[in-house]
Amino acid sequence: MEDKRIRNLNSFFRNVFGEKICKVGMWGGFTCPNRDGTLSSEGCTFCNPLSSHPKSYVEGQSITQQLSDGCRYITWRFNVNSFISYFQDYTTTYGDQDELDALYSEALSYPGVVGLSLCTRPDCLPESMLDYLEDLSRRTFLWVEVGVQTSDDRILRDMNRCHTSLDTVRSFEALHARNIFSAAHMIIGYPGSTRETVLADAAFIRKTGTYGLKLQNLHIVKNTLIEEQYAAGEFELMSIDTYIDMVILFLEHTEPDVVILRLTGEAPDKLTVAPQWSLHKMHILNSIHGEMKERDTWQGKALGFSKSTIDEPLRNIRAHWRTD
Ligand code: SF4
Repeated sequence: MEDKRIRNLNSFFRNVFGEKICKVGMWGGFTCPNRDGTLSSEGCTFCNPLSSHPKSYVEGQSITQQLSDGCRYITWRFNVNSFISYFQDYTTTYGDQDELDALYSEALSYPGVVGLSLCTRPDCLPESMLDYLEDLSRRTFLWVEVGVQTSDDRILRDMNRCHTSLDTVRSFEALHARNIFSAAHMIIGYPGSTRETVLADAAFIRKTGTYGLKLQNLHIVKNTLIEEQYAAGEFELMSIDTYIDMVILFLEHTEPDVVILRLTGEAPDKLTVAPQWSLHKMHILNSIHGEMKERDTWQGKALGFSKSTIDEPLRNIRAHWRTD
């Protein structure tokens, strides 16, 4: 029997859909207010949008062509026939709403696509977009992933995020008021982050009431502002052992009904500057699991939850995914 210590995405999808579901990474050709000059032209210090370029994407491919290639490969490789279309480049709720609707609708009309996952910034959810997403979430499974990164406003400034933790709080409040399913992206290991900031981030995420969590290590990608700071010796990167320790700390302080979507981040080999260990995803995941087993710990343990809670079906899942 599987030794589950976190609530993982596979079991969540089985819980909701009754079958295995895979996400298909898409390139929607979006942009971002932190790059187009609206907030800044430099972007976040760690960001090179090409690092989230789907491997199979060929320049100019339509959404349908991307799904055709992606779904065919996933079906061949994993024998899965139902998919979530995952828009992850730049800020996928930013832009002309009719154009965004056309992209999302094309994805949802592809055979086997049962839902959408959209990545965005906390400050890119205006009322009109929230109204639109609320309606969309009644028609399909919708997961809105918010780039939180940290709750520490000083680190947010260093990252050139051009939003505050208050924007983040408001974005989750607005999504949940409309019963839209949310997830939080967090970075562990940015210069200035410590055990205390990780604990503060975990407490902050609990307060948002988010349904999903993505943790990823800071990795230095080519052609970013942080690459220059790293090359100038302005900071040192976390070791893999420290990262594993921080991830476990975060998980222990995360409620067991939060779905864990990711525990490590990686960029393509040719774009990765450091750390080299970030390229070995399976090793990191196995090490986290091994260390949790060794310590006999699990998601939510520090909050007083028993290990068996992780296996309990999520309550009120349909209340947040309304199909009326
Ligand atoms: S990380 Fe997101 S918000 Fe920041 S510059 Fe890149 S696309 Fe924009």
